[in-house]
Amino acid sequence: MNIHEYQAKAVLKEFGVPVSNGRPIMQASEAEAAAKALGGPLWVVKSQIHAGGRGKGKFKEAAAGEKGGVRLAKSIDEVKQYASQMLGNTLVTIQTGPHGKQVNRLYIEDGSDIAKEFYLSMLVDRATSRIAFVVSTEGGMDIEEVAHKTPDKIVTFSVDPATGIMPHHGRAVAKALKLTGDLAKEAGVLVEQLFAAFVAKDMAMLEINPLIVTTDHHLRCLDAKVSFDSNALYRHPEIMDLRDETEEDAKEIEASKYDLSYIALDGTIGCMVNGAGLAMATMDIIKLYGEFPANFLDVGGGATKEKVTAAFKIITADPNVQGILVNIFGGIMKCDVIAEGVIAAVKEVGLTVPLVVRLEGTNVQLGKDIISKSGLNVIAADDLDDAAQKIVKAVMEIR
Ligand code: GDP
Ligand code: MG
Repeated sequence: MNIHEYQAKAVLKEFGVPVSNGRPIMQASEAEAAAKALGGPLWVVKSQIHAGGRGKGKFKEAAAGEKGGVRLAKSIDEVKQYASQMLGNTLVTIQTGPHGKQVNRLYIEDGSDIAKEFYLSMLVDRATSRIAFVVSTEGGMDIEEVAHKTPDKIVTFSVDPATGIMPHHGRAVAKALKLTGDLAKEAGVLVEQLFAAFVAKDMAMLEINPLIVTTDHHLRCLDAKVSFDSNALYRHPEIMDLRDETEEDAKEIEASKYDLSYIALDGTIGCMVNGAGLAMATMDIIKLYGEFPANFLDVGGGATKEKVTAAFKIITADPNVQGILVNIFGGIMKCDVIAEGVIAAVKEVGLTVPLVVRLEGTNVQLGKDIISKSGLNVIAADDLDDAAQKIVKAVMEIR
């Protein structure tokens, strides 16, 4: 689960991490009071969306002005102006995709005077089963580009969970960032604080880009992006409260209610499959025949009729879907349950696109009979290859 920058900074602040003072606002009318409370003389007006690259982003609407999603303001009037330009408008960044994201919240922050910008992130490294640090002197820019062009400028190390964070980790960060004296000491303290926050809150990723040295020689986290391990959220109701569903895909939220593994994608073929491996194979074979999947969907091993119905409704609600491929290998899952679920869903929501169903395994004949007796316009397929070819052909024909 992801949260907004201002929420991440509030969480980090609990652990003593140095961040700027700020005030989140939801309405332009709140901008003046927020700016006055902070005092100035420099403010930053920051779009709060669950995507990075806001500074270099561009708003779709001309009314939002030419500047990006993070703006420096030198007066209260400027803060007010930027707030009313940005709120409600759509920001497009390299991470939002071309549709962009509507800015519904802003964070008004005390502006910092920057001497240097660094990069620091932490993540759970699956290769070592440890928390890893990634540090670079090249902050404020696209870290993927740094990794690509100048990989030697990125330093990484991981922390042994048996010892936890040690002073040498702080020294490693200070060395990587070429910090000495008091700043090196600050780096040591910061590394301990970030590690404590990461572990206590079950974070999966924490990215500070940029971590800055201020002109008065202190470290400060100017940006913060945090995601949490969803499996551990039950331990953190206070984090769960920070969830902003407007930032998430509505179809994915609906799917999570039914415990379906669903990821929305950009293609046109809706897929309903059981088992993650088979779901991935189905996506691959759709691509092999020249189309793109509209989603990943694993209905799981022991799905009920209700779950299958919900899954089918989520797929058909996606306006990009031009055809549906149901591909079920019945092991624990019974083919007749799938067939009944599909029919119940079609009766409820109707079927406006071609539907190919491939069933195999437990109760397959029963499942096939149920579908053929239903009188629905379903294209039956014998195997995965046949199914993929049939749905691609059907979609091509109606275009
Ligand atoms: P991102 O573009 O989504 O990563 O948003 P950031 O929070 O990283 O802000 C983008 C850029 O705005 C930063 O890399 C800084 O260069 C600049 N910026 C953000 N806050 C301040 C500030 O307080 N003072 C100054 N001078 N620049 C800032
Ligand atoms: Mg940033």
